[in-house]
Amino acid sequence: MKLSLDFTSTYIFVLFLCLIFSLPITHAQQMGIPYTRQDSLRGSITPEREWWDLVFYHLDIEVDPRKKTIEGTNTVHYKVLREGQLLQIDLQEPMRIRSFRQDEKELAYKREGNAYFVRLPSPQKPGSVHNLEISYEGNPRISPNPPWSGGLTWKKDAKGKPFIANSNQGDGASLWWPCKDHMYDEPDSMLISVNVPDPLMNISNGRLRQTEKHEDGTSTYHWFVSNPINNYGVNISIADYAHFSEDYQGEKGPLTLDYYVLKENLDKARVQFKDVPRLMRAFEYWFGPYPFYEDGFKLIEVPYLGMEHQSAVTYGNGYQQGYKGKDFSETGWGMTFDYIIIHEAGHEWFANNITYRDIADMWIHESFTTYSESLFLDYHYGINAGNAYLQGARQVIKNDIPIIGDYEVNQRGSGDMYFKGANILHTLRQWIADDEKWRNILREMNETFYHQTVTTNDIETFLAKRTGLPLQSFFDQYLRTADVPLFQFYWKDDQLFFRWKEVVDDFAMPLKISQNGKTNWLKPTSEWQSTTDLIEKEMIEADPNFYIYTQQIQPGSE
Ligand SMILES: [Zn+2]
Repeated sequence: MKLSLDFTSTYIFVLFLCLIFSLPITHAQQMGIPYTRQDSLRGSITPEREWWDLVFYHLDIEVDPRKKTIEGTNTVHYKVLREGQLLQIDLQEPMRIRSFRQDEKELAYKREGNAYFVRLPSPQKPGSVHNLEISYEGNPRISPNPPWSGGLTWKKDAKGKPFIANSNQGDGASLWWPCKDHMYDEPDSMLISVNVPDPLMNISNGRLRQTEKHEDGTSTYHWFVSNPINNYGVNISIADYAHFSEDYQGEKGPLTLDYYVLKENLDKARVQFKDVPRLMRAFEYWFGPYPFYEDGFKLIEVPYLGMEHQSAVTYGNGYQQGYKGKDFSETGWGMTFDYIIIHEAGHEWFANNITYRDIADMWIHESFTTYSESLFLDYHYGINAGNAYLQGARQVIKNDIPIIGDYEVNQRGSGDMYFKGANILHTLRQWIADDEKWRNILREMNETFYHQTVTTNDIETFLAKRTGLPLQSFFDQYLRTADVPLFQFYWKDDQLFFRWKEVVDDFAMPLKISQNGKTNWLKPTSEWQSTTDLIEKEMIEADPNFYIYTQQIQPGSE
C-alpha cells in the first residue's frame, strides 16, 4: 500500500462487510463454554482408538428417499497395533446401532453419547487383522445449513425426482455412518455400496466398479476408492443424473474427468465445467500431479454449494462465475472462474492429499486452497491478476480470533483461515522472493506429505527447513494470534526510523519497500532502528503483497 508524508493515519483494511464465508465460529472457549467429555471423545485419539489402525471400510447401505432413512452395515477391517480389547466406534443420534459382530458372534457394547465402546471377547494380538461388522439404521440429521452444518439434504430436481447428498465436515461422518470418526486415521482403501430406487444413481468416491440391478426396482452402485480417504470426504450423491466425461493429459498421463449433473443442467454444465481442465493445468503446475489418478476426478452436482469430497468433488454454485455470482476481491478477477469448481478441486491437494490430523489445523486445508485460487489466476492471467485478487479479498478478513483452533476437542479456528490464510502464504512467498523456489516447495510439500495426515507443526517444520528462513515467530504471529503486524515509521533528520508493533517476540520478517521506483529491503524488529539509505520527503511504499498494516507517526510520539 502507499505511504506518503501526507498521510499519518493507519491504513487498515477494516471494511465492515458481512463475511460471505459464514463459517460458524462456535469457539467454545472464546464464549466461555467449557468443552465436554463428548468433545474429547470426538476430538481426541482416545485409548480405545489408538490401539488399532484402519485398513479398509466396506460401507454397504440402502438409501430410501421416501422415508429419508439410511440402513445397512459398515465392515471395518483393522490391524492391531497394541494389545487391546475395548474399541471405540462413533455414530451420532438419531442414527442407531443394531449390532456389532465379529467372527459370527454378536459383541457386547456400552454407549456414551455418540461413542460406542465395543468389548471384544479377548485382547487381540499386535499385527493381526480383524473385521468388525456394524449394523445400523435411522433417519440421519437433515442439514440445517449445508454444507456448513452437517447432515443429509433431500431435495427434488425439476421433474420432482429425489436429489440427495450428504455434507458433514466438522460435524463428522458419524452423522450418517458408523466409523472411527477422527481424522488421524484413514483406511488404505474403501468400498462404498449404495442401494437406491431406479432410475436414481448414486455417485460416490473412487471408481464405479459394478452396478447391480435388482428385481425390486432398485440398483446398487459399488464404488471403490483405491487410496486412503478421510471420513468427511466420503460421499453419496443421489439423483437421476446425466453423465459426460473427457480425458485430461496430465503430468502422470491420462486422467479421467467425469461429470454428473441434473439432466436439466446438462447444456450449462458442458460450458461451465470447462474450468476443470484449466484448473488441472494450473494446479499440476503449482502443486504437482493430481494426487488420485487411480480414482479419477469427478465433479457432481448436489443440492448445496459444494464440498471437497475426495475424487468426487460436489458442486452447487448454480453455473455462475465467482462465488454464487460474487467476487470476494471486487477486482473482477474473481469473475473469471467458477469459485466452487476451482476452490473445491484445489482441496484435492490440500485436504485430501495433505490432510489435517486435528480440525484445529483446518487452515492447512483452507489457507492453501484459497491461495490456490490466486495461483489459478497467476497461471492463466499472470502474476498481477493473482496479486490483485488476494489484495482485494482482504476486505473479508476479520482478525477476530486466531486461525488455529483448540486441539483435541474437534474445534476449528477463525474463518480467517480462508483469505487471511491465503494472504499469509502470499506474504511468505514475498519473503522467499524466488517464485521458482516457492513453486518447488509447494510441489515438494505434496510429495513429502503424499496421502498423509499432518499437524501445523509438520508444515511449519517443512517450510522452515525448505526455505532456510526462521519462520517460527512468523507462524506464531499469523496463526496463533489475531494481530496483524504493524509497520511503524517516522522521518527525522533525513533518517527513516522503523519497527514492528503488535508482534510476538522475535518477529523479524523483512519488508520490501520501494521509493521512487527503487526497491529496498528493511529488516524491522520490535526495536526501533534507523537507516540513512533512503531520502526523506520522497514517498516510500511497502510492497502491497505483504499482509501487514502500516502507520506513519510523528517524531517524538514513539
Ligand atoms: Zn475450502
